[in-house]
Amino acid sequence: MSNEQFYHALKVDEETCFGCTHCMNACPTQAVRIKDGVAVIQSEKCVDCGACLRVCPVDAIYIEQDDFEQIFKYNIRVAVLPSVFIGQFSRQHTAEEIIDVVKGLGFTHVVPGEAVVDVINEEMLAEYKTDREKPLISSFCPAIVSLIQLRFPALAQNIIPLKHPAEATALYYKQLLLESGTSADQIGMFYVTPCAAKISALRSTDKETVVDGIINMNFLYNKVYHVLNSKSEPNRNSEVVLPYYTPKVMEWSLTQGESKHMEGRCLAIDEIHNVISFLERVENEEVMNVDFLELRACDQSCAGGALMSENRFLTVERVHTRANRIQKSGLKVEEVKQNHLEYVREHLKIGEVEPRQTMALDQDMGKALKKMERVRSMMCFLPGVDCGVCGAPNCQSLAEDIVMKKAHLSDCGFLQRMMEKTKKLDPDHSIRIMEKIWGKDRLDKDCKKKGAKYEGL
Ligand code: SF4
Ligand code: SF4
Repeated sequence: MSNEQFYHALKVDEETCFGCTHCMNACPTQAVRIKDGVAVIQSEKCVDCGACLRVCPVDAIYIEQDDFEQIFKYNIRVAVLPSVFIGQFSRQHTAEEIIDVVKGLGFTHVVPGEAVVDVINEEMLAEYKTDREKPLISSFCPAIVSLIQLRFPALAQNIIPLKHPAEATALYYKQLLLESGTSADQIGMFYVTPCAAKISALRSTDKETVVDGIINMNFLYNKVYHVLNSKSEPNRNSEVVLPYYTPKVMEWSLTQGESKHMEGRCLAIDEIHNVISFLERVENEEVMNVDFLELRACDQSCAGGALMSENRFLTVERVHTRANRIQKSGLKVEEVKQNHLEYVREHLKIGEVEPRQTMALDQDMGKALKKMERVRSMMCFLPGVDCGVCGAPNCQSLAEDIVMKKAHLSDCGFLQRMMEKTKKLDPDHSIRIMEKIWGKDRLDKDCKKKGAKYEGL
């Protein structure tokens, strides 16, 4: 699998970025570098977690999206809508009212993105009973799957190889429509995503998908919010129980949504840095006898996705409240049709998750070991202060870049001073190196630059 096959929805707007390094320091996989004064994301190391986007002070990192108007190319327009979308709205608005507004914007059908989780859960439990290496790891969060492929390759075999619930739901619903007589070219399936990782997972060229387009959740939220708030009277009718919206469906994408339906010793961990430190312990065999790990890259799982508009804690509370009300009402929720679930079952499995070798220094093990040795010897020269002046997040990353021929030892600000002292580098060359990393005008006096005395005047 080549790096070109990995699509990333996160982009840097070079006009807005001013190379402040916040994103570089926040990235958990050391994927960001500064070149010519702006942030550059190294595609092969990015797992689409969105940590960089959250810390950018000027919103220079954005998530690409498809044109909403594309939905009108189809007669039948299905929104595959994760339940956290509804959780963003206060109880003042019923789920039925929210979905009616979504339909009013152009969709003919709306189905929760987690509609078929019962089938997924059955398959996960079946895997638990096999001799697959424990702990089993959920494949729900694509950022976590990429993280494991890159940083914890030995654990890739522990990932349960199943389609994402949204993909499986789209498969189910499309089949339902086809069997009702709708022709395939009339049906457009659109996934409303709360994060960048799911866009990348659906777009990577090695994945087959029935999803025809992706709508960023914040875009749809803003439209729905505007319509709901322009209504003179909110709908205060008691909540109608909508088809498929069982409490399990609604809560699946929240933290513990999966783990509470698994068997054995199960743990749910959210937020990517927490996940990394936990996986380090698993890899070092400091954590034993765990059967299942639910790992999510975002704090509060999908409620904390980078494309969510509402406060994540309020969203979690609202989803649970709505789910509890359905549970307590005792009303029967119309469930997915069993005959179509067979079709989903047959297509649920994906190939085993393979480690991605891109983070290793070379595909060839012998060459990789030699390069690792060169990285170590490079670290003898580098100062080890992780100052970031070289445009890499730490000395180790610079050493790896040098070995991969993406940087030079003279990019290190400390070594430049030493090289100048020993006449191996002239001061003009030194300045040119700095300009290549930080841009030509970085050292110009500019009282309007961010944080300066007269900024904004
Ligand atoms: S999305 Fe995550 S992995 Fe990718 S560059 Fe941003 S912080 Fe790093
Ligand atoms: S955090 Fe700073 S360096 Fe990164 S994209 Fe935003 S402005 Fe550029």
